[in-house]
Amino acid sequence: EDEEDEQNEESEDSFEEALVKRYTALLADGHADLCPWRKAGCKDDIYRLQVVRPHVWQPELRKRFHSLLDIRASIRDVKIETSAHDTTVYLSAEKLLSELPRAVLEMPDTQSSCSTDDAKALEIALHGWRGSSDAGNDLLHCDVCFQRIGLWMYQPGYQPSHIGEDDEEEYPPTVHLVEMHRDHCPWRNPTTQKASGTLSGQNACQILHRVVSTCAREQRRRSDEMLKTTHNSEHDEDELESMTLASPAPSREEIEKQDKERESRLRKLKALFTFKRNSAPKPISTGELKKT
Ligand SMILES: [Zn+2]
Ligand SMILES: [Zn+2]
Repeated sequence: EDEEDEQNEESEDSFEEALVKRYTALLADGHADLCPWRKAGCKDDIYRLQVVRPHVWQPELRKRFHSLLDIRASIRDVKIETSAHDTTVYLSAEKLLSELPRAVLEMPDTQSSCSTDDAKALEIALHGWRGSSDAGNDLLHCDVCFQRIGLWMYQPGYQPSHIGEDDEEEYPPTVHLVEMHRDHCPWRNPTTQKASGTLSGQNACQILHRVVSTCAREQRRRSDEMLKTTHNSEHDEDELESMTLASPAPSREEIEKQDKERESRLRKLKALFTFKRNSAPKPISTGELKKT
């Protein structure tokens, strides 16, 4: 039975591939020879997701996050697996929740009573999934590859209708947040994501997680700096106050010294003034000359 399933899966995959090829050709060839869309019709980065720009990733992540909170009861007990994260680059969902600006995820100001639900919802949202409810059945959806995961099959009490005697698969199975996207999905596939520069070779999950982690770190740095400057200015005021209070009254010697300095300055000024008066050219008046 397993072999049959595998064969079915394989033929499904190759059918999908054939479809993609056929439509790619149709999209391009349907245009006239010189039409720019002929080449642009199927750019090879057609699947690339915009996950770096804040005005794109923030509202989309927020939407997925809240849609998952809406089905929190269905994700609470589901076992999930994510790609291995380098903690120096990627912050955990818990950390992101506490350090991201509140507005990014539109978290209520009051601390949520069930933060493990929040963290799980964020983890799943970071991997491109949103939550939905279809006739009472809660699902995870990918809007890029259209994959759907029925969450009821991953609940602790779930018993599949047929379990082979020698079926070693664990029940309930784990939701693999990356591998459960379809092959070509950029959330899973770095080749279709076609990221460039320092992000090249990463799928959309990795890129988004990195971008969100950077956003949280920047927020922490900003609030640290704000704390520091507030502290510093308080400190400065204190210091100024203590200086004013503690500065001793000038001593007698100091007063005499200051007086002497003032006197000597005055003398210099006077001398200068006199010199200027003396050296000023005298107007020669003919009348005066006649008198003398
Ligand atoms: Zn055209
Ligand atoms: Zn997908």
